Amino acid sequence: MTTLLWFRSDLRLADNPALAYAAASGEPVVPVFILDDQDCDAWAPGGASRWWLHGSLSALDHDLRKLGSHGLILRRGPAQDAIAALVAQTQAKAVVWNRRYEPWAVALDGRIKAGLRAKGIEARSFNATLLCEPSTFANLQGQPYKVFTPFWKSLRATVPVPTPIAAPAHMTPLAKSLASDALASWALRPTRPDWAGGLNAHWTPGEAGAQARLQTFLDDGLLTYRERRNLPGQAGTSGLSPHLHFGEIGPWQVWRAAVTAASAQTGDPMTPGVETFLSEVAWREFSAHLLFHFPTLPTAPLRPQFERFPWRVDAKALSAWQKGLTGYPIVDAGMRQLWTTGWMHNRVRMIVASFLIKHLLLDWRDGEAWFWDTLVDADLASNAASWQWVAGSGADAAPYFRIFNPITQGEKFDPDGAYVRRWVPELGRLSNGVIHAPWTASAIELSAAQVRLGQDYPRPIVDHFVARARALEALAHIKTDREQDVAR
Ligand SMILES: Cc1cc2nc3c(=O)[nH]c(=O)nc-3n(C[C@H](O)[C@H](O)[C@H](O)COP(=O)(O)OP(=O)(O)OC[C@H]3O[C@@H](n4cnc5c(N)ncnc54)[C@H](O)[C@@H]3O)c2cc1C
Repeated sequence: MTTLLWFRSDLRLADNPALAYAAASGEPVVPVFILDDQDCDAWAPGGASRWWLHGSLSALDHDLRKLGSHGLILRRGPAQDAIAALVAQTQAKAVVWNRRYEPWAVALDGRIKAGLRAKGIEARSFNATLLCEPSTFANLQGQPYKVFTPFWKSLRATVPVPTPIAAPAHMTPLAKSLASDALASWALRPTRPDWAGGLNAHWTPGEAGAQARLQTFLDDGLLTYRERRNLPGQAGTSGLSPHLHFGEIGPWQVWRAAVTAASAQTGDPMTPGVETFLSEVAWREFSAHLLFHFPTLPTAPLRPQFERFPWRVDAKALSAWQKGLTGYPIVDAGMRQLWTTGWMHNRVRMIVASFLIKHLLLDWRDGEAWFWDTLVDADLASNAASWQWVAGSGADAAPYFRIFNPITQGEKFDPDGAYVRRWVPELGRLSNGVIHAPWTASAIELSAAQVRLGQDYPRPIVDHFVARARALEALAHIKTDREQDVAR
């Protein structure tokens, strides 16, 4: 009896319940990945995600062949049609997969399951990507959590750590060979212009790359995570987000590895570094739960009064932000890190998002869309929840009136200017005292550092204090009386 194993955002062999289930029968397994840009509600993967997907599929194909499989079968969507065609071609009696939780994916799963079962074909799905699934986790009133801390406390206290699932030693291939698209024909990677040089240099997509990155973090970053995670000039975080997004590693694998490493290194499985790290992993979880329960999260503010927010439309300002030419060094460093590597440090994501929304008064959805296209870890839930968090319009969000000062944020979290020097090299010779506000440097300092403001590096496109006042005024349009009191 042949089983079709439909890979989605679970591109790994170990700790993969659908794969383990399919392989355990000893019967032929046909592993398939479907590129389906039509079923995802206008959220087809962006450029950086497509670059990653190419590498991840190539690695998975390689790993599957080592198990004895004929390799990954590639088909283009719609997924339901592609699966129906494959079932007919292989005479499969079962289709198994690991679930995704985006609203479009939940709907698609339902349609596919119903269609297969109507034809008498076994359709079975599993959880491989979350610590706990949104459909089974609620607060004491049976409602979805909207605040992170109780969500995290309850997750820690009530969700049991599952037993790891080993990668199978062997996968029985189908006797006949099947047609597959060539990965190159999907053109997931850029050719001309090839903007992906920095991505190639920074990342190794695939399960082995994920494990290597995890190991580096366990050795060098885990125990100091709490102290270093906010310092973008240091490699103080795991860099696991794209690997987690594509399911090259699962959150329970990360959890178990962190606890085991801390135990071995300190005797305490929940040292403060581990506790903080796992709570960040839980933010990913919280975001997935929010999106599941509030499916309009990527497109509409959760707090409806933000529908009335007087966003500006300013293509020039948006372009300056995207290119890292705002005149605020920490903002520009972040945007250039993003463009070059497909990733940006979390602290700086918050700073650049706050700058777009509050200093430029541009709609958070403009930022969300840019991140969607340029992040290798672009994730519908985490991206939307984080943008709404910064905007103040989301669940458990930062209050809108808390406006990051990009100068003091830079001074606090990049005190030696290492991050700015790396990504904005034209400011590299400025002293620590002025590197986060070059317009405050004297003419002599600027000249000694070979910086001509307005030529080598822009002057600020908005004045911080003027922009702050403008943002608070805009907020007054939408606030209730009670919120005005809190803001005062
Ligand atoms: C405006 C904005 C947009 C964002 N968009 C995304 C996105 O599209 N995809 C994405 O994965 N993360 C997003 N984040 C969250 C966070 O910035 C990244 O997950 C983190 O920087 C990834 O780096 P890391 O793997 O080194 O994280 P670590 O600090 O090592 O954390 C470990 C893991 O926990 C998860 N995590 C950590 N912080 C958060 C968080 N605040 N929210 C959700 N999950 C978190 C990630 O999976 C991460 O890999 C966004 C944050 C902001 C402020």
